[in-house]
Amino acid sequence: MWRLEADAAVPCWRPESPPDGVTLAFTTRRGGVSEGEFASLNLGGSSGDREAAVHENQRRTLAALGLAAGGLATAGLVHGAEVAAVDGPGHSRDCDALLTRAPGVVLTVTTADCLPLILTAPGTVAAAHCGWRGTAAGLPGRVLNAVCAAAGATPREVRAHIGPCIRPCCYEVGPEVAGRFPASVGHRTGDRHRLDLAAAARLQLLESGVPPEAIFDTAACTCCSPGWYFSHRRDGSRYGRHWALAAMSRG
Ligand SMILES: [Zn+2]
Repeated sequence: MWRLEADAAVPCWRPESPPDGVTLAFTTRRGGVSEGEFASLNLGGSSGDREAAVHENQRRTLAALGLAAGGLATAGLVHGAEVAAVDGPGHSRDCDALLTRAPGVVLTVTTADCLPLILTAPGTVAAAHCGWRGTAAGLPGRVLNAVCAAAGATPREVRAHIGPCIRPCCYEVGPEVAGRFPASVGHRTGDRHRLDLAAAARLQLLESGVPPEAIFDTAACTCCSPGWYFSHRRDGSRYGRHWALAAMSRG
C-alpha cells in the first residue's frame, strides 16, 4: 500500500491507492533546505533549527503534495492521549492527535522516533503522534474511537497507516517502560527489552475491531537509516522532525 517515492523532489511515503480526494503522506529527511543535524527536510518548529528554513521546508512539502499552506493544522504533542477535533487550520495545544471532517484542513503531527499513525474513515481523517507514553496510555485506540464517533463508522470501515518510527531493532527500553506494554509487543533477552511500538499500536486497533488487512505499515525504522530519517535515539538532543500528514480536498 505504501511506497517511498525516493526520486521525487520532496521524497515522501505515499499510498498507492488513497481514497478519492484524500492526501496522505509520511515525509523523510530529504528534499529540504535545513543544514547540519537538521538536513534537510526538518519540519519541526521547536527543534532549534532556523525558523526560516523550517517554513521553507513546510512550504516545499505542501506544494509537492498539492496542498494549500493556509490549511495547516498542528498539535502541541505533549506525550499524552488526547485527541482534538478541528474544523479549521491552527494550532491545538495539549493534544497528540488531530481529527477533522473539514475539507481543506491539512492535519500534521511531527515525529522523529515516535510512531506516526494516520486513520481514515468515510469523510474523516486523523493523525496521531504515538510515543511510548501515549501508546501505553491507549492513544491509538482512543484515536480510533474518536474517528468512528466522528464518521459514524464502525472499526471495520477504518483504514490505519503506520509511518516510519523506531523499531525493535533499535529500541531498547528499561523494564519500567517494557512493563507498561503486553509481553507480546516486544522482545526480551535477559534483562534487556526491545519495544515494538508498531505492534503495540496494531494490537490496540485489532482489539477494537479494525481488520488486520486494513492496517498498512511502512515498516521503516527511523534509527536504522540515517540517510532517510531523523532519530532522537540516534542523533541526541538536536534532531529534525518528520511530518505525518492527512487532508481531504475541497469539492
Ligand atoms: Zn532499527
